[in-house]
Amino acid sequence: MSQIKRILVTGGAGFLGSHLCDRLVEQKHDVICLDNFFTSQKTNVQHLLSKPNFELIRHDITQPIFLEVDEVYNLACPAAPGHYQYNPIKTMKTSVLGAIHVLGLAKRCKAKVLQASTSEVYGDPEVHPQPESYRGSVNPIGPRACYDEGKRAAETLFFDYHRQNQVDVRIVRIFNTYGPRMHPYDGRVVSNFIRQALHDEDITIFGDGAQTRSFCYRDDLVEGIIRMMEGPSNFIGPVNLGNPGEFTIRELAQMVIEITGAKSKLVEKPLPVDDPTRRCPDITLAKEKLQWEPRIALREGLTETINWFRSIRMEDYRAPTPCY
Ligand code: NAD
Ligand code: UDP
Repeated sequence: MSQIKRILVTGGAGFLGSHLCDRLVEQKHDVICLDNFFTSQKTNVQHLLSKPNFELIRHDITQPIFLEVDEVYNLACPAAPGHYQYNPIKTMKTSVLGAIHVLGLAKRCKAKVLQASTSEVYGDPEVHPQPESYRGSVNPIGPRACYDEGKRAAETLFFDYHRQNQVDVRIVRIFNTYGPRMHPYDGRVVSNFIRQALHDEDITIFGDGAQTRSFCYRDDLVEGIIRMMEGPSNFIGPVNLGNPGEFTIRELAQMVIEITGAKSKLVEKPLPVDDPTRRCPDITLAKEKLQWEPRIALREGLTETINWFRSIRMEDYRAPTPCY
């Protein structure tokens, strides 16, 4: 029989966090969504505000918080390169102080706590596809380091709280995920290409577009996160969650043009510093330990996402940073 739990979701108003809240509220849990709304807005969870098992707190996770909960999903952190590079010191504080605060809370409450880590811990990888055992190739002093090293330090803290204080932890390494409720002005490749295509604007390919990414649809990803939280107690991760279908950025642009029927042209722009050349998850571990693998192919997920972009009023969205 399923048990009702008190669950804290930090970053719960964001793209992934709001979907996670949807799922947990639907499962009848008592959900506390905590967010400082840096890269999101209340409208993402507006439909949950009237639910008796949902609560919204405006709070910055760089500050401690005192709550009583059974589980914590720690998603609070800007995720798009333009967002996390806007105030890199704050990004590092969010990852490191945020981890310390949720781990301290979990220690006090004897709660289980899951960290949303990232494929960025592998940096610009020399091993392909990337298994969890690969230790990565991160530039510690480049513009992406505030995020990559912040997330690496958070993983270290999770393991140390586990070894030193027996905190029940879980770590998922999320690969590029997309879907409805992505911030239309987050500057990430999927949102940029869709927004540009829907306005018949030029599609901005950074570099020659031969770099690759593997795109996971948000429903698959959220299912993986929940399975990890509820999975075997002796499996704390880290575990890769992502779709192993690998595409060049140029292929992604062509697919968006095809689905939207846009008249957009592809134009090349300079490649950002330290932009990873290729990225693809090895998901053997997730398959074996969580019986999880993505079900939604890129074309299908993109079609859903494009339909959502068509349905919103883009002027209702405030660009969080002026980076693009
Ligand atoms: P998002 O920007 O939509 O969500 C992040 C949320 O955290 C936002 O609502 C933001 O306002 C909030 N936040 C940021 N700093 C905060 C702070 N100091 N205190 C409280 N709230 C704060 O991004 P997302 O794509 O939903 O990412 C969610 C998590 O998943 C992040 O931790 C991100 O690093 C991780 N992740 C996402 C992806 C992806 O492709 N979407 C890939 C790897 C990892
Ligand atoms: N990219 C691009 N055009 C854009 C935005 C991004 O070509 O308008 C490229 C970017 O250089 C990178 C890939 O798309 O190689 C994915 O970028 P994103 O910012 O979505 O996420 P990343 O995986 O780099 O964190």
